[in-house]
Amino acid sequence: MSDDTQEEKVAKPKKLQTPPGIHDVLPKDHEYHTFIKKVVRHRARQAGFRRITTPLLEYTQVFDRGIGEDTDIVEKEMYTFPDKGERSMTLKPEGTAGVVRAYIQHGMKTWPQPVELFYIEPHFRYDRPQKGRYRMFWQFGFEIIGESDPALDVQCIFLGKKIFEDLGIWDRFTLQINNIGSAKSREKYKEGLVNYYVGKERSLCESCGNRLHKNPLRLLDCKEEDCKILAELAPKFDQFRSKEDEEFHAKVKEFLDELGMEYVENDRLVRGLDYYAQTVWEYWDKNTGAQNAVGGGGRYDGLVELMGGGEPTPAVGFACGIDRTILHMKDAGIKVPSKDNVHIFVAQLGDAAKKKSLPLIDQLRDRGVRTVGALGKGSMKAQLRLADKFAVPYTLILGITEVREGTIIIRDMSKGQQKHVKMEKVVDEVVKLIGEKNLDKYTPGEVSISKD
Ligand code: AMP
Repeated sequence: MSDDTQEEKVAKPKKLQTPPGIHDVLPKDHEYHTFIKKVVRHRARQAGFRRITTPLLEYTQVFDRGIGEDTDIVEKEMYTFPDKGERSMTLKPEGTAGVVRAYIQHGMKTWPQPVELFYIEPHFRYDRPQKGRYRMFWQFGFEIIGESDPALDVQCIFLGKKIFEDLGIWDRFTLQINNIGSAKSREKYKEGLVNYYVGKERSLCESCGNRLHKNPLRLLDCKEEDCKILAELAPKFDQFRSKEDEEFHAKVKEFLDELGMEYVENDRLVRGLDYYAQTVWEYWDKNTGAQNAVGGGGRYDGLVELMGGGEPTPAVGFACGIDRTILHMKDAGIKVPSKDNVHIFVAQLGDAAKKKSLPLIDQLRDRGVRTVGALGKGSMKAQLRLADKFAVPYTLILGITEVREGTIIIRDMSKGQQKHVKMEKVVDEVVKLIGEKNLDKYTPGEVSISKD
C-alpha cells in the first residue's frame, strides 16, 4: 500500500461547527445586539432598574422548583448534566428562577422594596431548531420583586412597548393579556378543567393526556388540532375568578387605557411556566400570533416562597427574545447605527516610517479617531487596496521622503486628492476633518477612590 492511500485511511477530522440551533453572533449582527442592549439599558435606567447577571450554570433544583416540573422546559428542554462532583447542573433556560434565587440568597428583602432588576443574557433550551427558535438564544428581561400593585404589572407591560417602539417595530405586535387568578382560584379552575376533560382523553394528544392530571392549564395552549378544538369548548377561567382577581384585572385594564395602550383580552393565554398568577401577557407577532411571540411575562407572587424565601413576596416580570427582535428589525428594513466604521487608515513604507506611524496611531486613537494601521509588510498599492476595503474617508501616507522632511500625506479617498501637512499638525488636522461630533470619545478614569 502506498503512503498516499495510507494517509487517506486516516479519518479526516470532522469539520468543526456549532451544534444545531446554536450560532455565532457575527459582527454584522452584533450591531443589532449592541443597539438593542443600548435601548434596554437606557429604558431600564430611566425607570430605576439595576442590572443583574446570574450564572449560566445553576443547580438543577433552581429550575425544577422555580419553573415547575410539569412544564415543557423542565420536562424536555433543559440542558442538564452531572458535574465532576456528581451534582446535577443545568444551563439556564430562562431568567426569572435565577433572579429569585439571587433575591433570596443575597437577602434582597432587606433592600428598599420593590427590588427592580433587569438582565440581558443568553439562555439554553433543547428546543426543535427552526427560524426564530434556537437552542441558545438571547433575552432581555425585567423583574419587580417585593410589592404588589396592578400599576407595577402595567409598568412592565408598558416598558416592553417602549423598548419595541424605540427599536421601530412596535407596530408589528399586539399585546395579549389575561388574568389567571390567584393560586387558590387557579386550583379551582384546574379542578373544573379536569372534570371537563375526563372522558375525552382519547381525543387528546399524548402529551396532553399525560399532563391532564398534573397541569391541566397547559392543555389550553396545545397546538394540536384536536386539542385546540377541545380547548375552545373548555370552561373559561372567568367563571372561576374571585372578586379580588376581577378587581386586580380591572385595574390593570384601567391603567393600560390610561396609557393609551391597546390590548387583546385572550382567555387562552396561560404561559408556559408554572409560577405565574394573576396578570399574564405576551407580545404577539400580528402575522403569526402565538407561534412566535417576541416576549411575555406575568405576575409570580408565589415564587419567592416556593423557592425557599420564607414569607409570600409579590413579584412581576417579563422577558423578550433578542434573536426574534432582530429578525423583526431586519424584516422591517430597520438599520441600526454602527460605530464600527474606521475613520483613518495609516499606510507606511520602510522601517523608519513604520516607527513614526506607531505613536501617530496611538495619538489619533486617544483623540477619538478610529484608526487602523497597515503594519504588515504589504506594498503601498496593497495597503491602499486595504484602505478601500475599510471604506475610510482618509488615508495617511508616510514614506521615506515624508519621514525625512517631517511631513505626512493626507489622502481624501473619495476625491482622490492628497496634500502634505507637517507631522506635528496632522493629528489636529485629522480631528478637524473627521469632525468633533463623530469622534469615538471614551473618558477613562471616571472612577472614585473610597477608603471604606
Ligand atoms: P418565554 O420565557 O418562553 O416566555 O420566552 C420569552 C421570549 O424569549 C419569547 O417570546 C421569545 O422571543 C424568546 N424565546 C424563547 N425561547 C426561544 C428559543 N428557543 N429561541 C429563540 N427565542 C426564544
